[in-house]
Amino acid sequence: MFAAGWDLGGEAWKWRRRLHDWKEELVVECVARLANVGLQVGARDKWVWRLDSSQCYSVKSAYSFLTASDVNITASFDRFIWLKSVPLKVTIFIWRLFLNRLPTKANLRHRGIIEDTQMLCPSLCGKVEDYNHLLFQCEVYGRIWHLINKWLGVESAMHGDIGIHSVQFSGLGEFSPGSRKALSIIWSSVLYTIWCDRNRRVFSNEFDSMEALVEKVKLQTFWWMKSCYVLFDVDYATRRLRPWSTFQAIS
Ligand SMILES: [Zn+2]
Repeated sequence: MFAAGWDLGGEAWKWRRRLHDWKEELVVECVARLANVGLQVGARDKWVWRLDSSQCYSVKSAYSFLTASDVNITASFDRFIWLKSVPLKVTIFIWRLFLNRLPTKANLRHRGIIEDTQMLCPSLCGKVEDYNHLLFQCEVYGRIWHLINKWLGVESAMHGDIGIHSVQFSGLGEFSPGSRKALSIIWSSVLYTIWCDRNRRVFSNEFDSMEALVEKVKLQTFWWMKSCYVLFDVDYATRRLRPWSTFQAIS
């Protein structure tokens, strides 16, 4: 595989059939992981746990790694990764986002996978794509937050940093019981929806309108909540019209 070339676009990554978007993403991530790997001729392969000086796995070293201070572990981090109604794949996405482990273009450039000229946001807004830009600052995807706020009936200038944005958004309905949890679920759905659309732009050159993406968020969160909370017994049309009326059922 190494001999065939495992850089991005290398022969080692040629497939008989076209890959699905999510598989393309995994390949890009795999290339990123291999970028710093050097093979030694004649050396035997063995498993090594690099986070501990003993080279053996320990829970302590794994815990230290996951809670390292160079990442976005904020007070809201826990709140977003323990939402029982949110599917595991979305929770993992959120977890990786807070850790800045998503293969955004800025991260791929940082690892030497792409060139400076390839760092632009896939929405064609003209800015560099890092996670704060793509999800909270982009003038194209930012319209989703505007439309979601409109749906919720709130008017608020949203912050462009994940830590503050997450606290700000989930605190929009501080007077309603269950609202913090419901808004956290919606927040997770918006981010995941943007990320999936971004991947479609990157890998398939396809995308949805911002209005269509917002409808996706409304429908997705409806089913997430309905399948998890027994008190959430409204129909979709009612909930679409009056999202706040269902927040009490989320507790
Ligand atoms: Zn952008």
